[in-house]
Amino acid sequence: MLQSVSQPSSDVNRALPQEVNMTCDVAIVGGGVAGATLAAALKNAGMKVALLELQPQAVAAAKTQVYAISLLSAQIFEDIGVWEQIRPQITPFKKIRLSDADYPGVVEFYPEDLGKKEELGYVAEHGALIKPLQDFLNASDHITWFCPAELVKVDYKSDGVILEVRGAADADGKAVSHRIRSQLLVAADGSKSPIRSAAGIPTDGWKYWQSCITTKIKPEKPHNNIAYEKFWPSGPFAILPLTGNRCNVVWTAPHAEAQALAALDDAAFLQELKRRYGDQMGELELLGPRFVWSVQLMQSRHYVKDRLALVGDAAHCCHPVGGQGLNLGIRDAAALAQVLKNAYRKNADMGSRQVLQEYERWRQWENLTILGFTDFLDRMFSHNFWPLVALRRLGLWALRSIFPLKQFALRLMTGQTGRRPVG
Ligand SMILES: Cc1cc2nc3c(=O)[nH]c(=O)nc-3n(C[C@H](O)[C@H](O)[C@H](O)COP(=O)(O)OP(=O)(O)OC[C@H]3O[C@@H](n4cnc5c(N)ncnc54)[C@H](O)[C@@H]3O)c2cc1C
Repeated sequence: MLQSVSQPSSDVNRALPQEVNMTCDVAIVGGGVAGATLAAALKNAGMKVALLELQPQAVAAAKTQVYAISLLSAQIFEDIGVWEQIRPQITPFKKIRLSDADYPGVVEFYPEDLGKKEELGYVAEHGALIKPLQDFLNASDHITWFCPAELVKVDYKSDGVILEVRGAADADGKAVSHRIRSQLLVAADGSKSPIRSAAGIPTDGWKYWQSCITTKIKPEKPHNNIAYEKFWPSGPFAILPLTGNRCNVVWTAPHAEAQALAALDDAAFLQELKRRYGDQMGELELLGPRFVWSVQLMQSRHYVKDRLALVGDAAHCCHPVGGQGLNLGIRDAAALAQVLKNAYRKNADMGSRQVLQEYERWRQWENLTILGFTDFLDRMFSHNFWPLVALRRLGLWALRSIFPLKQFALRLMTGQTGRRPVG
């Protein structure tokens, strides 16, 4: 349990406790993709950054998750200077095929709809994103990694925070502890964010009646770089292309159905999968275990307070439909980096609420729009109620027939709307 204390009157600069053994400008807790992207985006700014991660780097990189990565996220990685290392390991998708169960009125999106020649986005395995970011950070002078390390106490002062950190055990088996003083603490510690809870920041939202099953398959025929999103009354069903002609399945269903699907033997599961997916890719081979995820929508009521900012899942979570969650976190990281770099250049106090509020104003409403969009998609399509069925088929017809509407939906999904961070 993380302890959080507030002693507003003390002055950290003048009265450093003896045990403080590092002073930095920004301390980021959470070396997932959102936290690592923020640390990497603060390069060349002259700031000293500490990055704390609970798990050893190799363990963190071995996570099996897969993400659809938007064109904007790709641009952010390019601005940072890690895209060249990421790009060869991930798969572009060149077409998105959206359909309502087996209804023949399919909507197809192409790069040309956005005036692009090549691709509409990418699909990345976790390691393909985090490993290049870790390598980039390991080679950067401005970053000090504390990894594996656990944040155990935060002491908020009027002009900084003091973090108590428990590191890995030394040769004698004794856990090493560190004290870090920083102008600003950034919580990138995931949806359960102990920092957010300890700081008393309330959240709004709900858990969905559905869970998500994910697994990887290898189809007999080439996937042709097509991303499928098929809406069944039980929930959205996505198949995303991966390297080596593999595909990632993201299958939403009510909790009990999801548990039952996960418990099926491989042959029965594949049969159910083919029933949802169709046989356009021939025989399917299961490549690994199935994982079941609970799904929630969550928005933090505040993204900042004095000395603290939240990014990524610590600030918001959404339904996986449309593959938006991490992309929002990457965009948060780039936006916060831009705000902090501007403040640093002007010699302003980066931990002050006045500076941090620009980040909150920028990101909180933009994220809420996407959270609302994913919630709308899930609720609109996860139904067999005939007026809704008629309405959504009308919606699909409109997407096919009214080009500006199609283009707007595509721009929203690929991160082309809203204020764009500059690298
Ligand atoms: C089924 C499913 C499919 C999804 N598909 C997509 C998709 O296609 N596209 C997309 O954009 N998003 C997708 N998402 C959402 C995405 O997974 C999340 O938004 C993303 O993983 C959040 O990243 P993060 O870095 O904010 O947090 P996390 O990945 O949770 O990272 C938090 C890090 O903080 C560390 N940490 C926690 N506490 C401490 C502490 N006290 N001290 C030090 N370190 C700590 C943890 O070890 C962890 O490494 C999907 C989600 C689900 C469930």
